Amino acid sequence: MTSDGTVTTTNFIREIIDQHNDAGRFGGRVHTRFPPEPNGYLHIGHAKSICLNFGLAESYGGKCNLRFDDTNPTKEEQEYIDAIMRDVRWLGFDWEDRLFFASDYFDQLYQWAVQLIQMGKAYVDHLSADEMREYRGTLTTPGKDSPYRARSIEENLALFEQMRNGEFQEGECVLRAKIDMTSPNLNLRDPVLYRILHAHHPRTGDKWCIYPMYDFAHGQSDSIEGITHSICTLEFEDHRPLYDWLIDQLGIHHPQQIEFARLNINYTVMSKRRLVRLVTESHVRGWDDPRMPTLSGMRRRGYPPQAIRSFVEETSVTRQNSVNEIGLLEHHIRQYLNQHALRVMAVLNPLRVVIDNYPEGQVEELDAINNPEDESAGTRKVPFSRVLYIEQEDFMEDPPKKFYRLAPGREVRLRYGYFIKCVDVVKDAEGNVVELHCTFDPETRGGYAPDGRKVQGTLHWVSADHALEAEVRLYESLFSKPNPNDVEDGQDFTDFINSDSLQVLTGCRIEPSVATAEHGTRYQFERLGYFNIDLDSIPERLVFNRTVTLKDSWSKIQQKGG
Ligand code: ATP
Ligand code: MG
Repeated sequence: MTSDGTVTTTNFIREIIDQHNDAGRFGGRVHTRFPPEPNGYLHIGHAKSICLNFGLAESYGGKCNLRFDDTNPTKEEQEYIDAIMRDVRWLGFDWEDRLFFASDYFDQLYQWAVQLIQMGKAYVDHLSADEMREYRGTLTTPGKDSPYRARSIEENLALFEQMRNGEFQEGECVLRAKIDMTSPNLNLRDPVLYRILHAHHPRTGDKWCIYPMYDFAHGQSDSIEGITHSICTLEFEDHRPLYDWLIDQLGIHHPQQIEFARLNINYTVMSKRRLVRLVTESHVRGWDDPRMPTLSGMRRRGYPPQAIRSFVEETSVTRQNSVNEIGLLEHHIRQYLNQHALRVMAVLNPLRVVIDNYPEGQVEELDAINNPEDESAGTRKVPFSRVLYIEQEDFMEDPPKKFYRLAPGREVRLRYGYFIKCVDVVKDAEGNVVELHCTFDPETRGGYAPDGRKVQGTLHWVSADHALEAEVRLYESLFSKPNPNDVEDGQDFTDFINSDSLQVLTGCRIEPSVATAEHGTRYQFERLGYFNIDLDSIPERLVFNRTVTLKDSWSKIQQKGG
């Protein structure tokens, strides 16, 4: 069990850790880290890594660091560092005093590079990028040695120093490990360790003009921090022999790397390279656009962090790549919101209703239940008066048999209010229904008739004079294709953006109880779905996002399919 009470099921990583602990490896310590590169905002896939790393540490009484692998100053920004910290905290995790940066280790990494040169295990190479690619060979053909590979240690030391001193242009030379150009693992064919970048670094400023490659920084950073289990995704499996080689050559603390399959979700993209494009090409309104799979987008959309965590817990930790249904995530969102969201009444497409026999100027405060799933949420007062709004689609002039809502001559219940009966329909010049006239039965206050007569429909409503006006943003999935990553030649993933992914409704009406609620507050709009107050909302102009619809087709599929 973790501190929030969720049950942690076992997985292959826990089994490995248990074996280590039984064998006394790492002295029974468990120290993990979440190592983002600050080149974009975190997405739901990162949530899996965060929950796994922090969750494992917590359940074994260990520690988890937050470390930024900030080795590429051309792509990294302070904005991303800040956003990542905000999102990890929001998910409910705490790195305490263990916030680290690979850039803090640049001096140490430089010394280790020098050490490798001194050991004859690294050299400065002047091949161009194209030549280097050519020399590297392919998966089926071995590579061949660079003509610069045989340089003397002294020459390499001097050249590396010159690289550091800014005496070369970008791309003129690199430092490479001297391993094996014929290795079946391409990562071992003399990988680049350092490259020249005359770039300003968000943290080290202009101190460096050479920067370690991710592969030269990542493993050693884990080693410096005394990490025991370096948990990462499957694409790093082929890099493990390189990390092992470097750590063994340097003779430093050796963490155990363990790879697991990435979390994927259908109808979205998750690679930061693609997410950056969605933002910079204005396909969305920003990193926190509620349609984005980013944690900041999900937060803005109203997804509770607890629900994201329970979703992530349910997706198992394996070594097989798979794609999760977005419906499963939504199922977790609904489950949480059903327990926690306050109910209110809102009308998205208002139709005016005048109750002819209700006294003009009279206002009643009706009692409404805040959350039927949680008695402690209490009740609130909802004003009722002569002129109301109901949902346009809750009225039909000529209804089919199965339509149980309002129609001429029909009686329905107003939630928490009275029975009303439609007696007249007012239309505009084009024949659109613009107003209904109804009568109410004063005996039915609270929604039941003393004579026992029944009505089939219960409608939500708001009082016209008391309701607040709101803009409501409805979202559909950002892509129209289950796997937008899977494109043919000549196509781009942006070709599959769903042009109806955002629908903005204005002139919606909502009961006054929400007037003073803060940004982010989540509600169930009765009969309509779950919504929250958007960051754009101001008292004069409320703005809501639809977090998720009410209908949970996923749980039904699960019940049927077993
Ligand atoms: P992307 O490939 O999506 O752009 P990344 O792997 O480059 O992401 P990093 O900042 O390097 O992003 O990721 C930090 C950590 O999160 C890494 O350990 C990485 O393995 C893990 N991670 C990234 N994406 C996922 C995912 N979809 N599922 C699980 N873990 C992930
Ligand atoms: Mg990465």
